[in-house]
Amino acid sequence: MALNVVIASPEVVPFAKTGGLADVAGSLPHALKRLGCKVSVFMPLYREIREKGVEMEATGVEVTVPLGRRTLTGKVCRGETDGIPVYFIKRDEFFDRSYLYGTPEGDYFDNLERFTFFSRAVLEAIKVDKLGVKADIIHCHDWQSALIPAYIKDIYKNSFPGTKTVFTIHNIAYQGLFPYYLFSYTGLSGKLFSMEGMEFWGKINLLKAGIVFSDIVTTVSEGYSKEIQTAEYGYGLEGVLKSRQKHLYGVLNGVDYTHWNPATDELIPARYSLKDLKGKKACKKELIKEFSLKIKTTEPLVGIISRLADQKGFDILADAMEDIMKLDIGMVVLGTGEKKYHRLFEELARLHPERLGVKITFDNAMAHRIEAGCDMFLMPSKYEPCGLNQIYSLRYGTIPVVRATGGLDDTIRDYKGGLGNGFKFREYSKRALVEKFKEAVGVYKDKKAWEALREKAMKEDYSWERSAKRYLELYDSALGTEATAPVRAKK
Ligand code: ADP
Repeated sequence: MALNVVIASPEVVPFAKTGGLADVAGSLPHALKRLGCKVSVFMPLYREIREKGVEMEATGVEVTVPLGRRTLTGKVCRGETDGIPVYFIKRDEFFDRSYLYGTPEGDYFDNLERFTFFSRAVLEAIKVDKLGVKADIIHCHDWQSALIPAYIKDIYKNSFPGTKTVFTIHNIAYQGLFPYYLFSYTGLSGKLFSMEGMEFWGKINLLKAGIVFSDIVTTVSEGYSKEIQTAEYGYGLEGVLKSRQKHLYGVLNGVDYTHWNPATDELIPARYSLKDLKGKKACKKELIKEFSLKIKTTEPLVGIISRLADQKGFDILADAMEDIMKLDIGMVVLGTGEKKYHRLFEELARLHPERLGVKITFDNAMAHRIEAGCDMFLMPSKYEPCGLNQIYSLRYGTIPVVRATGGLDDTIRDYKGGLGNGFKFREYSKRALVEKFKEAVGVYKDKKAWEALREKAMKEDYSWERSAKRYLELYDSALGTEATAPVRAKK
C-alpha cells in the first residue's frame, strides 16, 4: 500500500519562497510521488499566493484552533502542483500580510500565534477526515511547523496513533524563540516546557520542540548534521542534537532539473548544453548589458545570488573586495535581506561602477539569468546547511568558488590541478578567500583547463531521486516497517 506522506512547510515553490526550504518543499513531494508515495502538502495561505492568482477551491473544511483565551477558526483551500494536492490554511488575520515572517525591520510580533495556529490547523484539518488525507508520516520543516511533532506526542496522541513525524532542520540559526508567557497559546501540557522538552534558557524554542519530539530528525547535508553537534555551529542546540544523535541524519537536498537546466530554461536569453555552449556566451553578453558593466566578454564574470544575511560570509567578502576587484573581473550581485548589507553592496557598486552590478531585490528570473551568464559563482558562507545555488551553478557550467562548510563542503571538491568540480577554501578569512579566488581566475585564463572543469561541473548529478529514496528509508525506519535500521548514506 502506498505510504501516506504529509509535508507541512511554511514555504513551498511555486507558491511562496524566501529561501532554499521552498525549493525543497516544492520538489520533494514530486520525487516521493515518483517513488510511489501518496503525498499532500500543507502551507499557510499568504497574501502573495492570492496575488499570484493561484488556482484553488474552498474545501468547505473549517478548522477550530484554541489559542490562549480565544478560539479561532480557519478555512482550508485546495490547490495543486502538478497533480499533488496542496492545502492552504487560511486565516487572513495571520497570513494576509506583505511578508512571510516579518518586514526588513524585524520579525512579526505574533509569529508564535501565527505558526502555532498553522501547526495545529494542519492536524485539525487531517483529523476531521473530510479532506481524504491520511498521514502515516508528517514531514515537518523548520521552526514554523515544529510544534506538530510535539502535538502528536501530547494532546493529539489519541487522534494520530499510528502517525510518525520527521522533522527537517534547514537552518539551525532560526529557532523560533519566544517568551515563556506565550506558552499557553500552544495548548501543550506544561510538562513539555522543560529542559528535556522545548525550554531553552527560560524561553520557548520551537525548533527544539521539533528536535526533541519528532521520531526522526534530519538536516540538509551530512556535513551540516555533524557540524550542528558542535558548539561552533549548533547555536546552543548542540547538546540536544547530540542526545538525539541516533535519530539524526543528513540528507542532501536534491535539485529540480526541470526548473534548473540551461538546456530547457525558458527564463534565460539563450539555451545551451555541454554539446553546444554558444548560448552561454550569449547569456553572458546579455547579463553584462543588463547590469551595465564595462568589462570585456573575455574577462571572468562572477555571480552572487543570496539572502543578504551574516551567515553568507559577506564580512570577509567586504574586506576582500578591494583585492578581488583588482583582478580584472566583473561581478553581479542579486540579493535582499539585512539593511546593513543593502548599504554595503550599494556602496561597493558606487566604488566599482564599471565592474560591479548590484540589484537589491528578489527576482527568480534574474537568478536564472545570473546562473547562466556568469563564469563563476561565489559562496563564501560562514555556514551553509546545504546551499542550492552552488549545485544549480554546476549544471549551468558556472564554476562555484565556496568555503568548505556544510553542504558546500559535501558538494564541491577543490580543483587541485583538475581533480575537483570547483574551488574550495577552508579558513574563514579574507586571506583564504582572496587566495582561492585568484587561483580560480588563474585557471579561467587557461582556456583548455577551464573548459575541462566546466565539462566536469555540468556532468554532476544532484537530482532528487537519491535524496527522496533516503527520506523514504527514514520514513520506513520511523514506522518500524523496514527489516533493519537504515544504514547511513555514504558520502
Ligand atoms: P538559503 O536557503 O540559506 O537562502 P539556499 O542556497 O539553500 O540558501 O537557497 C536559496 C534559494 O533562494 C535559491 O533557489 C536562490 O536562487 C534563491 N534566492 C536567494 N536570493 C534570491 C534573490 N534575491 N532573488 C531570487 N532568488 C533568490
